[in-house]
Amino acid sequence: MRALIVEKGEDGKTSAGVQDIDESRLPEGNVTVAVEFSTVNYKDGLCVGPGGGLVRTYPHVPGIDFAGIVETSDDDRYKPGDKVVLTGWRVGEAYWGGYAEKARVNADWLVPLPEGLSTKQAMAVGTAGFTSMLAVMALEAHGLTPEKGEVLVTGASGGVGSVATAILANLGYDVAAVTGRPEQSQYLANLGASKLITRDELAETVKRPLEKETWAGCVDAVGGAMLARVLGQMKYGGSVAAVGLAGGAQLPATVVPFLLRGVNLLGIDSVMQPYENRLVAWQRIASDLPMEKLEGMIVDAGLGDLPKLGADILKGQVRGRVVVDVTV
Ligand code: NDP
Repeated sequence: MRALIVEKGEDGKTSAGVQDIDESRLPEGNVTVAVEFSTVNYKDGLCVGPGGGLVRTYPHVPGIDFAGIVETSDDDRYKPGDKVVLTGWRVGEAYWGGYAEKARVNADWLVPLPEGLSTKQAMAVGTAGFTSMLAVMALEAHGLTPEKGEVLVTGASGGVGSVATAILANLGYDVAAVTGRPEQSQYLANLGASKLITRDELAETVKRPLEKETWAGCVDAVGGAMLARVLGQMKYGGSVAAVGLAGGAQLPATVVPFLLRGVNLLGIDSVMQPYENRLVAWQRIASDLPMEKLEGMIVDAGLGDLPKLGADILKGQVRGRVVVDVTV
């Protein structure tokens, strides 16, 4: 089987390359999946490169998500031929992941692909899109409806942001998209963004803890100073779903928006998400994400492209969703 293998040299430096390896090297698990597609997430960039503290042992096969067909199964829930998707559970970090023609995993980590979604579409969604859906579900659970007002999406031309924009617009929300790449304005408009905000407008913290009440909700892929700034612009009772840290892990904010405006800061984790929520999220993706919008986000790639793509995503230079055909 072909696989992208990351090795660590005696000098401590890692290198990644495509190799033909024997299937017997696959780790333990009760389901073997013929992987068809994987994708490129920020964490993949770390794991294809220096590891970022996520990878435990080398040689390593990265790929934090994949979709494919069950080949063999020792678990009653899956049989050969079933289409499955896997995101999270530290696959591709602590365990071998999806950048290979086969993966052997624990059945508990798999989700059956919802009706109507192909393995390629599932990976066009990937962890980023799945997490966007979780974020939208959390905002809804905290009372967000289209009538409440505009919803902000930060890091909008990235994976999380692109899918969040398309889902929210399809659900009837007015979406304001924050981007540092104004050249992507047409792309974002095609996904359904009704307004563009430049990254500079929200990049710096201000002394005032509260600004004009502007956003009814927010899906935030950026964190850092931008998240702090957005908290002060939320409408009374509005919620921010904190998904990512593309702009930094610090949160230089005050508690004032929570105390005076009842703002909610909702943490979104996709990795350890319980199975029942995963099923609901994938069903909602199949029903609420317009597939023609998803097609517009796809950049096709093969295993050999991954070292470069991994570096690109760490620099914030990937647009939309890269779909990796692991057989190419
Ligand atoms: P991408 O790289 O595809 O998107 C991130 C986007 O953020 C970029 O495209 C860019 O958008 C914007 N951005 C990048 N750098 C900066 C910066 N310094 N300041 C402000 N904006 C910036 O990554 P993903 O969409 O896949 O992931 C986004 C974040 O979400 C990551 O931090 C990732 O680790 C996290 N994540 C978390 C998950 C969870 O379970 N909580 C699951 C999946 C992802 P633009 O060019 O439009 O400004």
